[in-house]
Amino acid sequence: MLKQLPFEKREIILIVGILFLMIGMMSFIAPIYAVTIAIIIYFGVRVFVGRRKRQIQKSIGGVCAVCGQRTIKNKCPTCDRVS
Ligand SMILES: [Zn+2]
Repeated sequence: MLKQLPFEKREIILIVGILFLMIGMMSFIAPIYAVTIAIIIYFGVRVFVGRRKRQIQKSIGGVCAVCGQRTIKNKCPTCDRVS
């Protein structure tokens, strides 16, 4: 099974990545533009990730009725039973 980072950790990685990008851009363009572009990228990524997350949830279905784990193709990875 694909091991995913917790959402908060990914959020921090995203913010740090965009901060570095912003600092990098500041050496080429005016800081105000760098900040504006960084904010646009941040919200763009958030919208993209949110949309993808919803798509993934839709494609893998629901949640296990026994343990509450997210099911994959209607099968719980923990209980290994079809829900
Ligand atoms: Zn389960």
